[in-house]
Amino acid sequence: MSRPLVVLGATGSIGRQTLDVAARLGIEVLALAARRGSADLVDLAAQWPDAQIVATAPTGEEREDMVSSLGDRAEFGAEVMEALAATPDSTVVNGIVGAAGLRASIVTLEAGNRLALANKESLVAGGPVVLAALARGGGTLLPVDSEHSALFQCLVGEGGAAVRRLILTASGGPFRGWAAGDLEEVSPQRALDHPTWEMGKRITIDSATLFNKGLEVIEAHYLFDMPYEQIDVVVHPQSIVHSIVEFIDGSLKAHIGEPDMRVPIQYALTYPDRASGALEEFDFAGRSLTFEPPDRKTFPALDLAYEAGRIGRSAPAVLNAADEVAVHAFLGGRLGFMGIPEVVERTLNQVPVVDLTTVDDVIEVDREARAVAHSLLGGAC
Ligand code: MG
Repeated sequence: MSRPLVVLGATGSIGRQTLDVAARLGIEVLALAARRGSADLVDLAAQWPDAQIVATAPTGEEREDMVSSLGDRAEFGAEVMEALAATPDSTVVNGIVGAAGLRASIVTLEAGNRLALANKESLVAGGPVVLAALARGGGTLLPVDSEHSALFQCLVGEGGAAVRRLILTASGGPFRGWAAGDLEEVSPQRALDHPTWEMGKRITIDSATLFNKGLEVIEAHYLFDMPYEQIDVVVHPQSIVHSIVEFIDGSLKAHIGEPDMRVPIQYALTYPDRASGALEEFDFAGRSLTFEPPDRKTFPALDLAYEAGRIGRSAPAVLNAADEVAVHAFLGGRLGFMGIPEVVERTLNQVPVVDLTTVDDVIEVDREARAVAHSLLGGAC
């Protein structure tokens, strides 16, 4: 039986697909939270009449609309959302975008709840803090990202000592096979044209630079307690193999299927059981799967992420913050495509590495890294 859900980031892509799965499997939804009190949130409230509805940062007008249409069910503020994440015996789906998701992850794990984690920043920026909360609260951490869910599923029933390598697959993005020189002049529009997965703007650019894969390497390190030497990346353009575990006896287990986020979401909600129905039978007709090593020269972001991961402590938080600033500048036409890893590398070199023990430590490092990245961009964004 699946535990009742608290869905954070309910109006986003992960939130909506979570609600699709919940509706199909008949899982109870206790609460829906989103940053804004948009018409989308009010629509979801109508579809889930028993759920508490929270907007953490609504405009004044949105707040009035929510109160008039939802009455007592409408609540406001990040603190209310975090209190909901502590609801005993619930599964909290964290689909919040950005650093705002970190505190919710901590509260969920401290309360001993199941955390279905789609918020990248929680582990990339706050890895040590999240793992400490997991140890303190005895909660369960289940990955929702497709690659990490794939690895998690391949590892069920296996001991850590049996693992030789975790191998994350990468689509390679829209510029697979290009030379660095050709990438200098790439436009944001061209970079946003991603072949397989439908995603938000930052993650689409991060897929084009391979930064996203680098962030996923760091997440895998924390999730599976695996040294970076034992985490690899292979480019697999068809996105049918979602990741692979290689064992010490030379066996490889791969997780294969259509790219559809409802599969990893559903597994995080039903684990250790499986429920039927996310997808139809897989059709093998006309399929061929190919693999190639990533081009680390043209896409230096991948090795930058490894480097930040190996330094550890606050370095991954700096990497993440600097990348977000650089991607924003690229999308605004203020930085070239190859400038993204450059700004990140220079920011990493400038921000001192410190220990992270509290959420506030993470927020402070994030703020400092953003300030440095902005100054490297000439304060233009
Ligand atoms: Mg992914």
